[in-house]
Amino acid sequence: MRRVLLKLSGEILRGRQEAGLDPDMLGRVAGELRDATAKGLQLALVVGGGNFFRGVSGEALGIDRISGDQIGMLSTVANGLAIRALLERNGVSAEVLSAIPIPGVVELFEARRALNTLSAGRVLIFVAGTGNPYFTTDTAAALRAVQIGADALLKGTKVDGIYSEDPVSHPEAERFDRLSFDELIERQLQVMDLSAAAICAKAGMPMVVFNMQRAGTLARVLSGEKVGTYVGPLQLSKE
Ligand code: UDP
Repeated sequence: MRRVLLKLSGEILRGRQEAGLDPDMLGRVAGELRDATAKGLQLALVVGGGNFFRGVSGEALGIDRISGDQIGMLSTVANGLAIRALLERNGVSAEVLSAIPIPGVVELFEARRALNTLSAGRVLIFVAGTGNPYFTTDTAAALRAVQIGADALLKGTKVDGIYSEDPVSHPEAERFDRLSFDELIERQLQVMDLSAAAICAKAGMPMVVFNMQRAGTLARVLSGEKVGTYVGPLQLSKE
């Protein structure tokens, strides 16, 4: 893989904390990202915000959905700034591009600028999701992966891949090594929202879902090892 888009959920950055950022996890993730780019890989990130706020949880606080989603999108900006700071501490140059204008803090997303940044060997950090309420950062990740012409969308999660059911509540759930987009969508597997899956399916954007909480797994995925679940554009046989 020459150019990848990595979706990092807020859950990963939360590590062992109740909410917010876990210093150990943040440091480790930044180190893994530095190692990934050291071999010349062009790396773009889409950062989630669930470790701070999700729009749906605002309703319990009396916050309407649109305001809640805006708070959620701003949470992703906070995470993106934290990752950039840690990357720079690790000697990696990075740029944060936001889907909503926040002058004086981050630059506004623009596709051509994004491509130039990647070509210059800097890490790109996309924040503020798609810029619209009622979407998630998964959809933003699928969209940005297509926009930058990524070779794959990597989704770093808390689980080892895609399961037939939630493996926490269903220990007997089956883990898939690989799936076609049709299977992912037909089975409504709860790994990413349907709009994100539909964008990847339409664009033929391969996806790998893997456990980012386990140290070193990102490097294994990038080296082509079969870890996690691969979702490909073709109907693949299950040897
Ligand atoms: N969000 C949004 N539009 C987007 C992306 C995100 O409104 O395009 C809001 C939404 O409220 C979401 C929150 O930002 O709950 C945080 O994003 P997400 O839940 O995807 O983060 P993750 O689960 O990856 O940490």
